Amino acid sequence: MHPQPPGIEDILKRHFGFQAFRSHQREIVESLLAGDDVLALLPTGGGKSLCYQLPAIVSEGLTLVVSPLIALMKDQVDSMEELGVPATFLNSSLAPDEFNRRWRDLARQAYKILYLAPERLVAQDMLDALKDWNVRLIAVDEAHCISEWGHDFRREYREIAVVRQRFPDVPLIALTATATSRVRDDIVTLLNMKPPRVHVASFNRPNLSYRIVPRTEPLQQILTILSSHRGESGIIYCMTRKRTEELEAELKAQGIPALAYHAGLDADERARRQDLFIKDQAQIIVATIAFGMGIHKPDVRFVIHHDLPKNIESYYQETGRAGRDGLPSECVLLYNPADASRQRYFIDKMADEHEHSVASEHLAKLLEFCESALCRRVQLLHYFGEIYQGLDGESLDECGACDNCLTPRARIDGTLAAQKFLSCVLRIQQMSGFSVGLRHVIDVLRGADNEKVRKWGHQALSTFGIGREHSQREWTHYAREFIRLGLARQDPERFNVVEATDAGKAFLKSRSRLEINSPLMSTQLTRKEREQQKTMTGAVSYDQDLFARLRDWRRRTATERGVPPYVIFHDSTLQAIAREMPTNLSDLSRIAGVGERKLANYGDDLIVIIRGSN
Ligand code: ADP
Ligand code: ZN
Repeated sequence: MHPQPPGIEDILKRHFGFQAFRSHQREIVESLLAGDDVLALLPTGGGKSLCYQLPAIVSEGLTLVVSPLIALMKDQVDSMEELGVPATFLNSSLAPDEFNRRWRDLARQAYKILYLAPERLVAQDMLDALKDWNVRLIAVDEAHCISEWGHDFRREYREIAVVRQRFPDVPLIALTATATSRVRDDIVTLLNMKPPRVHVASFNRPNLSYRIVPRTEPLQQILTILSSHRGESGIIYCMTRKRTEELEAELKAQGIPALAYHAGLDADERARRQDLFIKDQAQIIVATIAFGMGIHKPDVRFVIHHDLPKNIESYYQETGRAGRDGLPSECVLLYNPADASRQRYFIDKMADEHEHSVASEHLAKLLEFCESALCRRVQLLHYFGEIYQGLDGESLDECGACDNCLTPRARIDGTLAAQKFLSCVLRIQQMSGFSVGLRHVIDVLRGADNEKVRKWGHQALSTFGIGREHSQREWTHYAREFIRLGLARQDPERFNVVEATDAGKAFLKSRSRLEINSPLMSTQLTRKEREQQKTMTGAVSYDQDLFARLRDWRRRTATERGVPPYVIFHDSTLQAIAREMPTNLSDLSRIAGVGERKLANYGDDLIVIIRGSN
């Protein structure tokens, strides 16, 4: 009688040390083992790697993983080896000797997993060799790279389709965290997939908290955020290279060792800085969006946007780099609507009409998102066509962890402001016969003495100067509220000029009351709110001292082994240890993230540290 092959449950526990599958992982693994093609759409941190790593361990032959991120391959291979799974990669970073050695080992089937860049995969010698290497599964990671609609199109990805012809019977899995239907369709068509099993997980990131605050004193605001993240890793995104360097200097002057990162640095320097970050030797990176794709560091605890991101999708991707390990992490956007004008300037220079209108719409949606008083999480998910749901499937309109949920915006009486604003808009239009931009309406309301006002004679209007009691900023906020409520509109076809709508005119006549949201406030969270935020994003209590000592041990061990600390154990595992305090190996083995191999390698060390703390 043959012994039963180990179940996938067993492998999950034994190799990975995980007690349960995450959402969709089991179904994906089962589809692959049944021989189907699979399209897996899971958010960042959703556990995509396990979806092909586990079948790779179960299957007889070799699993091919195509990834565009050469810098990440070593990391993945290190992680696999820490789990006791023989894995390797072939790419241009290897010296010829080493390359040949690996090639020979592959030929004698010494590995279970092979990571390849797309251009390496489609080389003729590679394709020929793979024929003899018993390929049983093909995984295409970051599959959105194949689509021009994705956020990171790479031409080489188009070539990968040839493997589908070369290996018609090998199941293929495409994985991505990009969920739009255009990208989805492109992946299936362009990779020549057989009609795939499609698995779409929720894009909610329950452990992330979102906060948008007006940018008033950025440095001070950033320092406050940093003060609640001592010793933790984070990314600060800026719009320009110059800004990253200025902020780096300002933070250094405050004794905070931050590192700038942008495309203007040469490749070696970029790699060096990225490596320092990954190895926990530099905690804070001040970066343009050039930084991110290749970062799978699981314990990024905060992402700050110093400037306005490009659109909601980028905001989601960039904040998404926080908290891959599932622990509570914070996303703060310092919002200044003035950033939008810079973006508008670039948008207005776009020659292609379609491109122009898509970009303007994206920017408008983003501004709406920033200024809205609704739950951030609900809005983000709504943007991706998803309804925010609780554990038992009922739809929810509050997450309890974002700024709008924690400190709901006050409702204020906007009647007078609306009357002033709308009549000013109408008077200008009556007097001049044309409509003007928002900025000018506000200038007239505030009685500004400037060239346009004089040129058009607008100081003669009865509404000139009737709104001096509000700042320019407040008026901008009110105007957006009036637009949101349908009393006024901006015409994107005509330089965003402001007009009163029929509803606005009716409102003026009716003299009815109007309630609006108060402007976004620069409030710091109270301690109580901060605690609620943490609870809502899944924080648990643990022994902080023990956790700190475990991290020290991990840093030393990682340095000795020449791998990033998170390859040894994730923070989530160390926190679980610091909570449960297991004092023998068998209890330790029940902690999530402690598989057989890691127990054998590190169990005794850990027990000594844990016992030392009693
Ligand atoms: P993605 O590629 O989808 O962003 P990863 O594959 O990097 O996500 O996984 C994110 C983290 O979650 C990893 O640290 C991984 O070890 C962990 N993880 C994956 N699956 C599970 C699971 N079933 N239980 C606990 N942790 C898991
Ligand atoms: Zn919320």
